[in-house]
Amino acid sequence: MSLVVYNTLTHKKEVFQPLEKNKVKMYVCGPTVYNYIHVGNARPLVFFDVVYRYLKFKGYEVIYVRNITDIDDKIIQRAQEEKKSASEIAHIYTQAFEGDIKTLGIEAPTYSPKATEHIEEMIQWIQVLLKKGYAYEVQGEVLYSIDKIKFYKLSKKNPEELLAGARVDVAGHKKNPGDFVLWKPSKPGEPSWESPWGAGRPGWHMECSVMSTKYLGEAFDIHGGGRDLIFPHHENEIVQSESYTGKPFVKIWIHNEMLSFGKEKMSKSLGNIITIHEFLEKYPSDVLKFILLSNHYRSLLEFSEQAICEAIGSLEKIYKTLLQAQEQLKEKSSGQEIPSKEMKEIVTPLWKKFEEAMDDDFNTAQALGALFEAVRVMNHAFTSRAPWGNEGRKILKEFLEAVRNIGKIWGLFEQAPNDFFEHLRTKLLHRVSVSRQEIEALISERLKAREDKNWKRADEIRKELQKNKILLEDTPTGTTWKVQI
Ligand code: AMP
Ligand code: ZN
Repeated sequence: MSLVVYNTLTHKKEVFQPLEKNKVKMYVCGPTVYNYIHVGNARPLVFFDVVYRYLKFKGYEVIYVRNITDIDDKIIQRAQEEKKSASEIAHIYTQAFEGDIKTLGIEAPTYSPKATEHIEEMIQWIQVLLKKGYAYEVQGEVLYSIDKIKFYKLSKKNPEELLAGARVDVAGHKKNPGDFVLWKPSKPGEPSWESPWGAGRPGWHMECSVMSTKYLGEAFDIHGGGRDLIFPHHENEIVQSESYTGKPFVKIWIHNEMLSFGKEKMSKSLGNIITIHEFLEKYPSDVLKFILLSNHYRSLLEFSEQAICEAIGSLEKIYKTLLQAQEQLKEKSSGQEIPSKEMKEIVTPLWKKFEEAMDDDFNTAQALGALFEAVRVMNHAFTSRAPWGNEGRKILKEFLEAVRNIGKIWGLFEQAPNDFFEHLRTKLLHRVSVSRQEIEALISERLKAREDKNWKRADEIRKELQKNKILLEDTPTGTTWKVQI
């Protein structure tokens, strides 16, 4: 099966063919480290992690670069507000970012270059752009001149059309409002590097052109990021990189749609954010990944209480089915019972259906649909058949194997089911007003009441806990509890 990917550059789905056989070179714009990252930022992180894992599964050797923007106006502003140096702020939030990424279970890219470690190369690029006549200097500032640009490659619009609709910083010394900064002089007290144009720092777009080509070469396969980066960031990256190298920059541009919160894009500047740190204090990381992957990456996604509850419900259902399948396999085979037609038609081809959906522009939503179909059929089988025969057990194994492999690519379902349930109930305690000790004391009291055949008290306890949104479940190995969602 061949992989098909939507390319923002051509506005259509294309059969994926890397520039070099069996090798994929991919760059994704990383965070600007001036604050904790939010759940919107998690969308590209999680999605491109899945792309990375899936391409490796397909047999490609993947070189994946995700940068860290550790010098920027927003970092300087934050440093001034907090009376710290810009490098301290960058250090604090880089550490926080790395901690969040680890808790989210996102694989480390091949390289995570930092902008401040590539200033020399950026200066060299700017010198070449000046020499080639694409840039000009005014009072210590170097700007790229968009005069020769007929149209931007991603949006297929000419500069006037695009700039008319965008808020552009019209500095008096710009020859054209669309000209963008390659090098910017620093004010006293701001971080700066010596350059032929005086002390200053590079522009944001320059960072990504320099770091991507340094690690991946002048032309590479995939460049990714959120849609909000298309203009001006990615358009300007293309313009300056192609001026510098004289070659087409990137073959495939992949952009994720935005995550919104209360109908607006979740963004640090709008202040409507939930940080990943806050979210992961309250919920397991699987919940966030599940919300993000249950929608196609090019669809708008609204983050809400309802989305959180639905994701929890779905995860519980999947993990419960996994647990039942594992338990069932421990039982002895009946030797002869025959699996249903549905089991053969829906559960056995689960992995194939997963691959088909992922091959169609990483359609995680469709793949999840196939998984839920299999879960439904398995649950039906658990209620209607016992004991299981050899053929049924084969299907149980196929189901477990397929979910394990899906989990490896999505970075999900990696815990043992009972560990997941324990993790979930611990996290969800923030939603109720009873403590774990109180719950456990009441469960012990109920057990005692049941031993004494005091059914009335046992029932009272169940109801009392239920009033507090704690649901009890009696299993052959004891009583467990969960927080009602
Ligand atoms: P920033 O730190 O704002 O430059 O964003 C880092 C990455 O997160 C970029 O790829 C952005 O496109 C992406 N991003 C920011 N906000 C959102 C959002 N609300 N939904 C999806 N992606 C986002
Ligand atoms: Zn970038």
